Amino acid sequence: MQEPYLLTAHELQAKIGKDEISPSKILESLFKRIGDLDKRIKAFVRLNEECILKIPENKKGKLYGIPVLVKDNICVKDEETTCGSKILKGFKPPYDATVIKRLKDEGAIPIGKANMDEFAFGSSCETSCYGPTKNPWDLERIPGGSSGGSAAAIASDETILALGSDTGGSIRQPASLCGVVGLKPTYGRVSRYGLIAFASSLDQIGPITKDVQDAALMMNTIAGYDEMDSTSVDIAVPDYTRSLTKDIKGLRIGVPKEYFIEGIDKEVESSVKKAVFLLKDLGATIVEISLPHTQYAVSTYYIVAPAEASSNLARFDGVQYGFRFENASDLIDMYIKTRSKGFGNEAKRRILLGTYCLSTGYYDAYYLKAQKVRTKIKEDFDNAFKNCDCIITPTSPTAAFKIGEKMDDPLSMYLSDIFTISANLAGIPAISIPCGFTKGNLPIGLQILAKPFDEETLFRAAYTFEQSTGFHRENPKL
Ligand code: GLN
Repeated sequence: MQEPYLLTAHELQAKIGKDEISPSKILESLFKRIGDLDKRIKAFVRLNEECILKIPENKKGKLYGIPVLVKDNICVKDEETTCGSKILKGFKPPYDATVIKRLKDEGAIPIGKANMDEFAFGSSCETSCYGPTKNPWDLERIPGGSSGGSAAAIASDETILALGSDTGGSIRQPASLCGVVGLKPTYGRVSRYGLIAFASSLDQIGPITKDVQDAALMMNTIAGYDEMDSTSVDIAVPDYTRSLTKDIKGLRIGVPKEYFIEGIDKEVESSVKKAVFLLKDLGATIVEISLPHTQYAVSTYYIVAPAEASSNLARFDGVQYGFRFENASDLIDMYIKTRSKGFGNEAKRRILLGTYCLSTGYYDAYYLKAQKVRTKIKEDFDNAFKNCDCIITPTSPTAAFKIGEKMDDPLSMYLSDIFTISANLAGIPAISIPCGFTKGNLPIGLQILAKPFDEETLFRAAYTFEQSTGFHRENPKL
């Protein structure tokens, strides 16, 4: 029999249903895999081996017995949750995030915490206080970020399912660079309650999985209205597995002319263009569209996101959570020293940028202006969706880069989000799926975007492409 860790959630579900395998056997197989590999990959910041002693009893749960790795910024009751930051060391939330509660209610088993860029600030998983995670396809390269631990663990079969969070691309970009599936839901589709906030108007939790079907299964469990999150939207959640039809006849796919310009790697461009031709062969209609404000997306995001982050991070002052600098001379000294020692460089950069943009005299010039441009970017999508049902772009302009390559050049790091950021600014859903490899055997990802609350179209298009290609079945040699 194939090792259980190699299987998807839906394959394991079928075996569990027929009593061919038990949840504890799945966990044992995973723990062995993690023990063998994670010293090299470093996807986990905490493994909760005790979960094997608390296998859920609800055999009827939709995800009964399926292991899930949780990004370290999502609260799991009584389990240390640090956002990859020294400032939260020792913080054990007294409650489960809504997504965790829903997963547990359906019998899924959280197995540990995944590495991430500190407070989800980054695109490479290098700003974590635990050190970088490695890309399973090439251990000298980054896995992408900020949900790099979740994506690397899926790619290396160290977990069956994973949760990530996406503020400007943090689910899709690492999924793309690790050759796996990552979905950012519509803003408001999945509750943010218990997600430690980065930029509250952009953040969404979503699945990172081995294939599209597993992403649909996870969405069936985590999506839906939550009274604990005032931005969660009360719209019925469809059964997403019904969209897995392998039929895209008549689907109108928009290709934005602004996304295939200079700076994009030739191999990425050619894989994505091939994908467009394939989708056309499979019955879709391709339409050229324009998203004229695309060029302003990165600058807009790097005002709005740090502004909200600086406000959200004000609460980490050594009083209520995690790390506190001892031996301070007075209260102010304690605040200053806790924050100076607790936050890493990128977090400090964001706090400085954000505080500056929000300060009197600059608010109108930066923050308010950025919000106006954000509306323009959203209107671009509203107009484009008059002529198409979904939009296709590359997920990332390049495949995985080398560890250390961009650490001293924040601007070039920020540009790696150029294709993912607009979806967060506009609040629309987007998925990244594998669409090829570079000559150096690094995965390339394809991004599909759809109208608000139309995750079904994403699943339909993504599943059709995945099933006609099979890139998701390739595994790194480890
Ligand atoms: N890489 C982007 C940033 O650094 C997006 C991060 C994210 O989505 N959390 O802000």
